[in-house]
Amino acid sequence: MSEFDYVVVGGGSAGCVLASRLSEGGATVALIEAGGPDRHPWIHIPAGYAKILTHPRLTWGYRTEPDAGTGNRALDYPRGRVWGGSSSINGLGHVRGHPSDYDLWAQKGCTGWGWDDLLPYFRKHESFAAGGEGRGTGGPQPVEHLAEVPPVVAKLAEAVRAIGLPVQADMNGPEREGFSTFQQTRQGRRRVSAARAYLVPSMRRPNLRVIDHALALRIIVEEGRAAGVAIRRGGAEEVVRARREVVLSAGAIGSPQLLMLSGIGPGGHLAALGLPVLRDMPGIGANLQDHYIVRLGYRLAEHRWSANRRIAGWRLPLEVLRWAARGDGVLTWSPGMFSLFARTAPGLEAPDIQINGGPVSWAEEAGSGRWPSLRIGLPEAQPGLTLGVWQCRPESRGTVTLASPDPAAAPRIAPRYLATEGDRTCVLRGLRLARRWLSAAPLAGIVTGETRPGPRAETDADLLDFARETGGTVYHPCGTVRMGGDPLAPLDARLRLRGVAGLRVVDASVFPDIPVCNINATVLSVAEKAADLIHEDARG
Ligand SMILES: Cc1cc2nc3c(=O)[nH]c(=O)nc-3n(C[C@H](O)[C@H](O)[C@H](O)COP(=O)(O)OP(=O)(O)OC[C@H]3O[C@@H](n4cnc5c(N)ncnc54)[C@H](O)[C@@H]3O)c2cc1C
Repeated sequence: MSEFDYVVVGGGSAGCVLASRLSEGGATVALIEAGGPDRHPWIHIPAGYAKILTHPRLTWGYRTEPDAGTGNRALDYPRGRVWGGSSSINGLGHVRGHPSDYDLWAQKGCTGWGWDDLLPYFRKHESFAAGGEGRGTGGPQPVEHLAEVPPVVAKLAEAVRAIGLPVQADMNGPEREGFSTFQQTRQGRRRVSAARAYLVPSMRRPNLRVIDHALALRIIVEEGRAAGVAIRRGGAEEVVRARREVVLSAGAIGSPQLLMLSGIGPGGHLAALGLPVLRDMPGIGANLQDHYIVRLGYRLAEHRWSANRRIAGWRLPLEVLRWAARGDGVLTWSPGMFSLFARTAPGLEAPDIQINGGPVSWAEEAGSGRWPSLRIGLPEAQPGLTLGVWQCRPESRGTVTLASPDPAAAPRIAPRYLATEGDRTCVLRGLRLARRWLSAAPLAGIVTGETRPGPRAETDADLLDFARETGGTVYHPCGTVRMGGDPLAPLDARLRLRGVAGLRVVDASVFPDIPVCNINATVLSVAEKAADLIHEDARG
């Protein structure tokens, strides 16, 4: 048995921030992580993303429950299981939400989480050398503009202006609406995960211990207080005790799972699995939110506009040399190279549609239904471009529940995409906006046609069918142990679990609502703020 001031469970985006910040002042910290060190070379090469998305050792191998919203398909649902967690396998996009996202959190009783409260933490975590209004330049997390801007981007920007939308030089600047190139959690040629930004530089401290290859089994609660965490490591079980707090940062799937395994969750569900019910909390595992992406394909007139030829055959080794020698080229690319945020209905305060894309298109193969599937990673022989359209603030809410009381078993993940009429019509508006954009005059002679779904889908019914049958996760699950001012919210606004002392949750689970962005930068900011809250509470 070992004892620390703080026991943090999960060494992902949030857990790495906490391990670093909580150990800064000399407190003893244990970081428990199911995965191991981030030695795999593909983690560190930005384009390696496509190679490790479902890696059996680096990810949890989750699949969703099939439902009507996805044409009864079960989808891959990758989550990182390695130092850095999902920040080691993600698409490197570094994006802030819309200020109103966080102001809405505050209005839901999350006092201290409005935009003005969180902006200092967005600045604190990042180091964006290009600077700019509201940007941070001295934080642990390096952020860079694209190392290489593909030539088609300038034409896409012209087309954006032609349809009456703005173009922004800084996607994280004060104006969040419109078209911009992505910023990446990258330094030079390499990905910088939360592990590389926060954890590894802190591991020299004698008061921080990383206990990896260790599966957290349950939280030990003694007399209403979280006293430690039971773990399994190398076949043996042990308890890691916490003098001050246990902090769960096991992610939007792992944190609710671990709470339920500890008897904290919907009472009926736990009892049906034969688990003792310590706290009946129906809010745990509820409120699952995610972005649902629908990919459109376009044919381009010439190879100079597309990277398809550069990422296959004899040209690929040249890109490897370029990456090694100059630190740019397609190996520094992410799946999203540019993004368009737009409002597609009157009266909205924030964009309701995000369209990401890159000048690469993937081969198709027969799908389960009417539409072919994409073979992501296998480029088409002809030049092409892909757009991914998603709704920014879906109304649909899913669940994470236990499939078994066995901590090693995957939980049931039911995202319930497109469950409401509002979500379905919003996605249709987004798909029609993408079509309008790509058929704008500045792209004449460059975009020669839509290949996917193409003329097979003209009516709303066809487009919706395409969305259901071919869409997938953008990998942004959140909200499953939300904070809020209402009694059903499992956490208070200091991220403390209601009814159990010494227990906090700090990761994407705590979001009351999904923000209008790719969510990693928000997770880092939440964790930075949580570290301050924990320090404040320790001072009393
Ligand atoms: C494929 C992919 C692409 C993405 N692309 C982007 C992007 O481009 N931009 C962006 O902003 N966001 C992106 N995201 C989302 C973003 O990376 C995540 O939202 C963020 O990393 C979540 O951080 P977290 O701390 O909540 O959880 P995670 O980073 O997932 O960390 C949870 C950690 O807890 C560990 N853990 C879980 N359960 C246990 C247990 N029982 N015992 C021990 N350890 C446990 C896990 O192994 C993991 O290391 C992407 C995510 C994925 C998966």
